Parts: sequence; structure tokens; C-alpha cells
Amino acid sequence: MRLKYALTVCDPKSSQIVAYQSRTTGNSHLTREDICTALGMTQARQRVGLCLLYAKFTKDHSSGQMALEEIIKFARSQSGLYVGNLTGRKGVSILILMSKLVLEEFCRTADTPNAKCRCGGGGQVCDREQTEVTGKLVMIKCKRCRGTGLKPVPKSRARMSIAKLMPSLSQSTWSRKWQPFYDLLLSWCYQESMEAEIEYSQITEVSRSE
Ligand SMILES: [Zn+2]
Repeated sequence: MRLKYALTVCDPKSSQIVAYQSRTTGNSHLTREDICTALGMTQARQRVGLCLLYAKFTKDHSSGQMALEEIIKFARSQSGLYVGNLTGRKGVSILILMSKLVLEEFCRTADTPNAKCRCGGGGQVCDREQTEVTGKLVMIKCKRCRGTGLKPVPKSRARMSIAKLMPSLSQSTWSRKWQPFYDLLLSWCYQESMEAEIEYSQITEVSRSE
């Protein structure tokens, strides 16, 4: 069972999601209790990544708040290298806004309004040629979204939001300093969450072999 489904199993609000999940992925060898224990262990070892994944897949407000705090902390530790230290009232507002934008992008799923690509969020499309040739439905990775199922977020979106707080921000300064900072924060979120995924699957693999 993928971690994203596991999160919903231990979320008391999501019994419907659990029902949906058992229909779509089949029954797991793990009991609900196993899953909750594995999540607890993952939390102890990969707290930040798990927190980000909770925010992404449960859409829970308090998880979102916690994930945001983690991004802000990381952003604060890195900003000096990219855009200068963000201090003072305005600096802090910019830091928070930047982190919010990153979290929003990270948390997009096919359920996010208007996020779905033309493939309907599945990330796969029918290969007409092959389907015709073979007479069987052949699905391939959607080229538009590269399999994510999501429309790409326009690069200008973050710049326009930050420019509201920093009217003097030029396009070239954005591209040279801010965009790399934004990309760093976003890839950090992916990295942390991937580590949590790996940790979780290692833990559950161990419990499978016991
Ligand atoms: Zn697509």
C-alpha cells in the first residue's frame, strides 16, 4: 500500500476514502493497526516529509499549517544564499508568502480545482494508433503533464504574487535569484516526502517478511 493511501486509513475523518481505496487497490496484507504503527515509526524518523504528505493527501488544515511552518523554517535557513536574509516585517511576510506558494504547488493533486490536465488527471491517454493496430486499448503516459495528471503551474504565478509585496522586483531579478529559491523550496518538499515514502515502505516490507 502506498503511503498516500496509508495516511487516509489512520485519518478518522476519511472512512469514505478508505472504502474507496480498498476498492481501487485491493486489500492490503496490513491491518489498520499495522498501518498506524508504521506511520508512527515513519513520523519518528521522517517527520517533515510525513507532515508534508499529510498536508497533500488529507487536505487537513492543521497538517497544512504544520507543513507550512516546516517550509518557512527551511526557507529562512536558505534565503541568505539566494535572495538575501529576509528579516523585518516585510521580509518575514515575503518568506511566509513564498512558503505558502510552494506548499500550494506541492499539495496539488487531481482533486485540486482546475488542476487536472486534459487527460482528466489520470496522467495517461489512449494511444490511438497502437489501439487501432492492436485492436486493444493501449494507454501511454500523457505528454502534456508527463504522467502527473496535473496542469503545470505557470512560472509567472509566484512572481506576480511576490511582486505585490515587492513592487520593485524585476523580471530579471526574479529569474536570477527568486525563481531558483522557489525551485529549491519545492524540490526540498519533494525530497523530504520521498524520504518518508521510502522509510514507510521499508518499515512495511519488514513487517511483511516477519
Ligand atoms: Zn495529462
